Amino acid sequence: MTLLSVREIGKRFGKLRALDDVSFDVQSGTFHGLIGPNGSGKSTLLKAIAGAHFADEGRILFAGRDVTWMAPHERSQAGMSLKFQITAIIRELSVYDNMLVAVQAAEPVLRLLRSATRAALQRHILNALDRFRLRGRSSELAGELSHGEQQWLEIAMALARGPKLLLLDEPTAGMSPQERRFTGELLAPIKAHCAIVIVEHDLDFIRSVCDRLTVLDQGRVVATGCVEEIGRNAKVQQIYTRRV
Ligand code: ADP
Ligand code: MG
Repeated sequence: MTLLSVREIGKRFGKLRALDDVSFDVQSGTFHGLIGPNGSGKSTLLKAIAGAHFADEGRILFAGRDVTWMAPHERSQAGMSLKFQITAIIRELSVYDNMLVAVQAAEPVLRLLRSATRAALQRHILNALDRFRLRGRSSELAGELSHGEQQWLEIAMALARGPKLLLLDEPTAGMSPQERRFTGELLAPIKAHCAIVIVEHDLDFIRSVCDRLTVLDQGRVVATGCVEEIGRNAKVQQIYTRRV
């Protein structure tokens, strides 16, 4: 089933065409990578999908609805979740409390006040921390986590609402090779209930994690296809050899 359909999106910043006639589809249960040189429009595209800014042209369909003119919180209620390049954790709160903030944003406060729900809530948070290898650190301040752990906490927080689609902008930037591998392992089980659109510089990482890729260059789609097709694509090879 098509979960997300980006159709002929255009976005200008003054005279600069940051996105030009960009179209691609994301199926449920798949991870879709966005790659391309610096400044090719990847972050701008993620923001347009999440509603952080509106596109000037085109349409965005999500879970059977036209979300083109929806505000970010409406898209979030519809089942989208965005993790930006810049971290959103609260460094002065514990790891557990960061999760609590994220979950509470998703749950009506009155339900949280009922103790039965509170126990369930605690279980839910500890399970999530467990999945992201953070349970042993739940009482530590989030600011004391390593860079990689902070990224995982943020992904766990972005998943707190049980989204249908998670948008990730360079989650492995600044990570060690081992942390990157862990990240791939942590993301894999999400596929059962949530699709991902992920921007990445690290081509090996994105090849290992994604089912399909869209390549952007100067705001335009160069190619969309499965990882093998993109690897063979002459235009894509040209872009990446041009860079070095
Ligand atoms: P990428 O994420 O692929 O590196 P971006 O989407 O961040 O690229 O940027 C695409 C182009 O749009 C770049 O030339 C960038 O300088 C420009 N751009 C991005 N955001 C803004 C903005 N808010 N105002 C003006 N120009 C912007
Ligand atoms: Mg970017």
